[in-house]
Amino acid sequence: MMKKNLCIIILIFFSCFQYTEAQKIINRDVEIDQMVKEVSPDSLKTYIDKMVSFGTRSTLSSTTDKKRGIGAAREWVVQKFNEFAKSSSGRLTAFVDTITLVADGRRIDVNVNLGNAMATLKGTDPNDDRIYIISGHLDSRVSNVMNRTADAPGANDDGSGVAAVIECARIMSKHSFPATIIFLAVSGEEQGLLGATYLADKAKKNNWNIDAILNNDIMGSNNSNETGITDNTRVRIFSETFSVQDTGRAALNIRSLGLENDGRTRQLARYVKEVGERYVDHLEVVMIYRNDRFLRGGDHTPFVQKGFAAVRITEMNENYNHQHQDLRTEKGIVYGDLVEFMDFEYLRKNTAINLACLANLAKAPSVPQEVKVDVRNLTNSTMLNWKAPKSGTTKGYYILMRETTSPVWQKKIFTSQTSSTVSYSKDNYFFAVQSVNESGNESLPVVPIVGR
Ligand SMILES: [Zn+2]
Repeated sequence: MMKKNLCIIILIFFSCFQYTEAQKIINRDVEIDQMVKEVSPDSLKTYIDKMVSFGTRSTLSSTTDKKRGIGAAREWVVQKFNEFAKSSSGRLTAFVDTITLVADGRRIDVNVNLGNAMATLKGTDPNDDRIYIISGHLDSRVSNVMNRTADAPGANDDGSGVAAVIECARIMSKHSFPATIIFLAVSGEEQGLLGATYLADKAKKNNWNIDAILNNDIMGSNNSNETGITDNTRVRIFSETFSVQDTGRAALNIRSLGLENDGRTRQLARYVKEVGERYVDHLEVVMIYRNDRFLRGGDHTPFVQKGFAAVRITEMNENYNHQHQDLRTEKGIVYGDLVEFMDFEYLRKNTAINLACLANLAKAPSVPQEVKVDVRNLTNSTMLNWKAPKSGTTKGYYILMRETTSPVWQKKIFTSQTSSTVSYSKDNYFFAVQSVNESGNESLPVVPIVGR
């Protein structure tokens, strides 16, 4: 009897210990937790009401009218950024980045002054050149994409994405991060991803070290037209499998090691799921293993095509009566992208996952360097080694592990060293390594290359 009781006590002690250890890993960073709590459905609604008040935000609409059209809208976004800049100790700067697009006979029929409204929150570490981008598109449309005069409220497409960008800028600009964050409201999305293409080209040309792009497009409404499903507890994240660099030897390596599910963009999607769900309750981030939906595009794609890690965040069930539609009522059905069809609590959660991920990435040290798996000997364990990251202060590293069929990481093992032997076979699991700092902010994972 005594012996049995002792066993139970030891068991309880052991499970408490285990619980505490697990808690330690998933502890929320207090600063991020606080920022996430500040995301406000009311603020989000105010921004969207204001965007809708510009009548149309068609890329082809007036850029000079003070009240109506895309020009007034983008000036307003910059004005919001400038308001926030006042409490950023000079670190947040905003402007409209413009370019003249020449008529192309397709979706640009006259020369257009296209402008992306953007704000940059400069990182505090001069040795850290990483950039994180959150984006949405400011332009809107009705049934005919060339119609520049009809009311095109674009409350959800993509007022929701731009509102998330503005709300993140409001909250995050009061804080400082070692890495740089860009808050971006692009234009020209509906005319063919033109604003994003312009910026992706510029980023590539100037060698910007963009570590991640979170593109938010259509994420503030919770119901679909066909099924009547209401779901504000799930959000989709689209990610492409391969990067444009994955050709030649890189492609051979992916095939032989089975790394087709471990590209940079897929890693980012997995990271958003883990960190987003860590900070935001009652929201499941659903990974979709494709770049975008059928027949549809988004602003992450020009970045993906330039080799950057970029994902699309979109609501679970779209309602096509409320996208790209002339405002009208037919057979009792109201068509049009109106504020009344939105769910601001859902948009709050979707904004919060963006904020949590941006903050966690921008606070984290950069990725561990030269991550290698030692394959010199045939063993049933896994020897990993790496070098310290280029920037940031590390407390240590997480070794991530998952079964080859698992979409998400299943074990997260902490070490303060730069090498480790894990008693699971490299043949049977996937591994990656992240840098982590004192407050638990982890970098994106790096999949080891074969080392000898
Ligand atoms: Zn859109």
